[in-house]
Amino acid sequence: MTFESLGLDEALLRALKTAGYEQPTEVQARAVPAALAGKDLRVCSSTGSGKTAAFVLPALMRIIESRKDPANKPKRGEVRGPRILVLVPTRELAMQVCKAASDYGRHVQWLAVTNVVGGVPYGAQLKALRSPLDILVATPGRLIDHLGSGKAVLENVEMLVLDEADRMLDMGFIEDIEHIAESLPAKRQTLMASATFAGEVGQLAQRLQRDDVERIE
Ligand code: AMP
Repeated sequence: MTFESLGLDEALLRALKTAGYEQPTEVQARAVPAALAGKDLRVCSSTGSGKTAAFVLPALMRIIESRKDPANKPKRGEVRGPRILVLVPTRELAMQVCKAASDYGRHVQWLAVTNVVGGVPYGAQLKALRSPLDILVATPGRLIDHLGSGKAVLENVEMLVLDEADRMLDMGFIEDIEHIAESLPAKRQTLMASATFAGEVGQLAQRLQRDDVERIE
């Protein structure tokens, strides 16, 4: 299996080469084609499996593809919400996912990635939310704050990613996640990664995802 055979854009293939990745991990080999085909995913795997790239690469592909349509080029002064929203349990994971998106998207010059996490001042986050955005990585609590004040625009979200969903539920984010999901367009792709899909996480997956789900273990 090669990255070329997964159907990724040239810009991403070059970045993967720079990162020194020789071939996709098992999770990536299964997740990337399914996500590119538009399916919802339930990825049941732990850290170290390459799960971050398994959802970041299809997310970047979605942005690259839609930007090829000149109608989707941001106009001057336009506030354009993110197409991709990634929810994560912690600030540290938010930073890691942002870095992965910037690293794999390093040859996509116009790519705009930002994060909103708790424990830091609001000012810089508000400025970033007012600029055109492609990918927003957020912890649920802080995103809820920005939604409540009307500063986060989520009407353009085409893909929702929940990373470490089990941990987010352990931390008590269930109501925040449900509230955020209700603020998103119903027509969207939803990718979930979790160490387990038993119990409450499975029920959440059922509520947020469509019936045609690809399960990857
Ligand atoms: P993750 O499971 O997403 O936390 O990734 C674990 C580590 O594996 C990270 O340091 C990645 O940079 C690295 N990684 C991800 N995909 C690959 C790959 N296909 N080949 C080599 N390393 C990878």
